[in-house]
Amino acid sequence: MTNIPRGNNRWRQATRLVRGGTARSRFDETSEALYMTSGYVYASAEEAEQAFKGEKNRFVYSRYANPTVQMFEDRLALLEEAEFCRGTSSGMAAVFAAMASQLRAGDRVVSARALFGSCQYIIAEILPSYGIETVFVDGTDLEQWEAALQRPTACVFLETPSNPMLEIVDLGKVCALAHAAGARVIVDNVFATPLLQKPLEFGADIVVYSTTKHIDGQGRSLGGAILTNDADYVKTELVPFLRHTGPALSPFNAWLLLKGLETLELRLGRHCDNALAIARHLESRRELGRVLYPGLPSHPQHQLAMRQMSAGGSIVSLELPNGRDSAFRFLNALQIIDISNNLGDTKSLATHPATTTHQRLGIEERAQLGIGDGLVRLSVGLEDVDDLKSDLDQALAAAI
Ligand SMILES: *Cc1c(COP(=O)(O)O)cnc(C)c1O
Repeated sequence: MTNIPRGNNRWRQATRLVRGGTARSRFDETSEALYMTSGYVYASAEEAEQAFKGEKNRFVYSRYANPTVQMFEDRLALLEEAEFCRGTSSGMAAVFAAMASQLRAGDRVVSARALFGSCQYIIAEILPSYGIETVFVDGTDLEQWEAALQRPTACVFLETPSNPMLEIVDLGKVCALAHAAGARVIVDNVFATPLLQKPLEFGADIVVYSTTKHIDGQGRSLGGAILTNDADYVKTELVPFLRHTGPALSPFNAWLLLKGLETLELRLGRHCDNALAIARHLESRRELGRVLYPGLPSHPQHQLAMRQMSAGGSIVSLELPNGRDSAFRFLNALQIIDISNNLGDTKSLATHPATTTHQRLGIEERAQLGIGDGLVRLSVGLEDVDDLKSDLDQALAAAI
C-alpha cells in the first residue's frame, strides 16, 4: 500500500533500520504493535461501502494490507530507497508475483541461467506452460545478453551474486540492454541484501527478496518482498495480482522482520567480516580446489563485484578435491557448522548443492553452471571466527 515511506528520507541508514515505518497506536507502545487480525470493523454500513468503493483509505482485509505488515513494508522501502514495497509470504511468492503479475501469453523473458532452484523452475517450467517464451543466458557474458535482447522482451530476471557459484552480473550494462529491448529488469537481491547492493541505483526496475534469509536472519520465519519505483506497474498489475491471488505476509512474520531489520546492519557486518576471514583461510589451504568469494581478489569478477557491492556478503563456496565422497566426509565431520540448505542465518550452515538445492537440474545443466560434486556452499554465521576456522580445519583433515 505504501507510496510515501513513513520516516525521514534524510535519516541515515542505521536510523532508518531502527525507526523507519514505525506507526504507534493510541497506546504509545515502544516496540511496533503486532496486529494479528484478518479483518477490520466499520462504524457504519456507509463506511464499509466507501471503503469498498475506494473512497475511503483504510484497512479492509489483511490479504490486502495490515498495519504491522505495512510498518515492515515502509521500513524496507525507506532502506531500499524505493517508493513502493509489498511484503509476501515467502521469497518465492515475491519472485512469482513480480513476474506473473505482468507477463501475458506470447511475452518473452530473458534470464540468467545461474539461479536459485525454484526461480529456475518458474522460468524453465511454469512460465512456458502459460505460453511465455523463456531464454537462458550466461549471466556473466554480456555478448549473450546482447544477442538474446535483440528481440522485444517483457522481463529480464537475474540474481547477483548467484547461488551457489557467486557469479556477478553487470547490473548497469544488463539494465541498459534490457531497457533497449523494452524489458523491465527484476533483480533477486537476496545474496547481496539491501545493505550491500542497491539494484535500483543501477537501473533495475524491480527488486525482490527472500526475507527468510538475512532480513530475518535468525532462522525463524518465511517472508518475501517486492520493491519498485514504477507506480503504474504497482497500481495496474502488482497490487491487483497480490490482492486477488493472496500471497500475503503474516503480520506475525512481518513483526519478526521489523525486529530483524533493527539488527541487520550489525549482523551483516559480522557476517561479511567472518566470511572474508574464512575465504582467506580456505584459500591458503593448498589441498582445496577453488574457493569462491566475491570479496577475494582471486574471484574472476572481483573488480565488478566491488563496484556494485560494498562488501562480499556471507556466502563462501569451496571445492573439495575428490568429488562427492570428500564433500560428504567434510560435511559429516563438521561439529559446529550445521548441514542445512538455508542461508543468511546467525548459525553457520553448509550445503552440498549437487545433491540438494541443485539436484533437480541433472548432471549436464550442473556442469554448465560449474556446480561440481565436490562443491560445498558455506553460509557463514555470527559465531567466533576462530571456532569456525578450527571446525573447518578438522573437517578438512577428515575429508581429504
Ligand atoms: C531462498 C531464496 C529464494 C526463495 O525464498 P523463500 O523465502 O525460501 O521462498 C529466492 N532466491 C534466492 C536467491 C534465495 O536464496
